[in-house]
Amino acid sequence: MNLPTLIIGGGISGITAAVELAEAGGQVVLIEKENYLGGNVSRFNNYFPKLCPPACGLEINYQRIRSNPRISFYTGAEVKNIYGVDGDFRVKIHLKARLINNNCTSCGKCAEVCPEERPAKLGRTTGEKAAYINNGLAFPMKYCIDPDACAGEACGKCLEVCDYDAIQLDALSAEVVIQAGKVIVATGWILYDAAKIENYRYREEPDVVTNQEFERMLAACTREHKKLTRPSDGKVPARIAFIQCAGSRDMNHLPYCSAVCCSVSLKHALTLETEYPEIDSEIFYIDMRLSGRNEKLLKQAEGKERITLTKGKVGRILPPDGEKGVLLEVEDIISETKRQDAYDMVVLAMGLTPAPVAAELKVNEYGFYLPDQPSGMIPTASCKRPMDVSSSVKDATASALKAMRR
Ligand SMILES: Cc1cc2nc3c(=O)[nH]c(=O)nc-3n(C[C@H](O)[C@H](O)[C@H](O)COP(=O)(O)OP(=O)(O)OC[C@H]3O[C@@H](n4cnc5c(N)ncnc54)[C@H](O)[C@@H]3O)c2cc1C
Repeated sequence: MNLPTLIIGGGISGITAAVELAEAGGQVVLIEKENYLGGNVSRFNNYFPKLCPPACGLEINYQRIRSNPRISFYTGAEVKNIYGVDGDFRVKIHLKARLINNNCTSCGKCAEVCPEERPAKLGRTTGEKAAYINNGLAFPMKYCIDPDACAGEACGKCLEVCDYDAIQLDALSAEVVIQAGKVIVATGWILYDAAKIENYRYREEPDVVTNQEFERMLAACTREHKKLTRPSDGKVPARIAFIQCAGSRDMNHLPYCSAVCCSVSLKHALTLETEYPEIDSEIFYIDMRLSGRNEKLLKQAEGKERITLTKGKVGRILPPDGEKGVLLEVEDIISETKRQDAYDMVVLAMGLTPAPVAAELKVNEYGFYLPDQPSGMIPTASCKRPMDVSSSVKDATASALKAMRR
């Protein structure tokens, strides 16, 4: 019997592996711990190299999933443990209760009346309502309720307004065991904890944000047709500094290069240049590390009046001095000077680390999954090393091919 391939992680690489495998005739079960597929890409404002919206790339893949009966998927699903051998794995999966069933038409009335807020998850980005949908590209496009934030039937406001019998506040979580022939691990990356870099005052300064937070701020502005404002006082920033290698290439934190951060900051600066021409950006870098088509981002940025590229390390962020904004102490390598300068916001281009998974996998010295694993276990894309979307998609396609080999 040919068992399905189980894919852990429904980001762009897990989705790619799933559709490639299924279109080649294989059975696939895709599991994703969040309540929707798409991973980090679905939360982007835009993505390089072409700076196109995340819908291009994701929507076509959602369509391929919808139309392929060989793919089944679970969201809100996390691996508890994996046992067995190549050709016959058993994977125990915990399924979170969504509290909203498939009758949901995503009309949004539940969120409109919901009085509770989810705790802010990423640093200081504001929390959603307890009844929420993750983003404009959520797939499946259905609301869910965060049980940790919901007041339950004592409130019941969502029950009153839902015309489709979709609210199930007493739904329970469950466990299932899936039998699989191969397991592809596509669990992606998580950001290094910015609070660990004490000299960048991430915890103390509301206007110091990570690049992931900044990406989501831009995405929310695009979605809601709003202006970008800074967290501390809601003012439109005039100057934004980007600090490269925040946590990466640093023996006290992550000794390796996180590969995508230079391209990410150039993308952010170019996006500001076209969408917010009143904002100046300055990128502080050790050296620009771009590969392939991403090199073009540097060429584009070099000619822009509102973008300054400064070769130099930001030593530290100083404690506030009155109304000056966020004060940086910078070493400018080219002019061989040190200076202090104030910015309205600072974006930390953070290092990336592998997302953990409950499986005994071989890792390298930095915790990334090695390509060579016990037979039948196939790690793919950015959980093996930091990489961009285009490399992740290629690696995931190769993993689909590996899973087809019997
Ligand atoms: C701020 C920022 C901006 C970026 N912008 C760009 C860009 O413009 N262009 C570009 O090419 N690259 C960009 N990148 C890199 C890009 O994010 C990665 O290339 C891409 O996300 C890799 O996709 P993935 O599917 O491997 O991982 P992810 O997107 O991280 O997806 C992994 C998925 O697995 C799920 N998962 C994790 N653990 C489990 C588990 N145990 N069980 C079930 N599911 C699990 C996660 O919830 C997630 O949905 C950016 C990176 C950062 C930090």
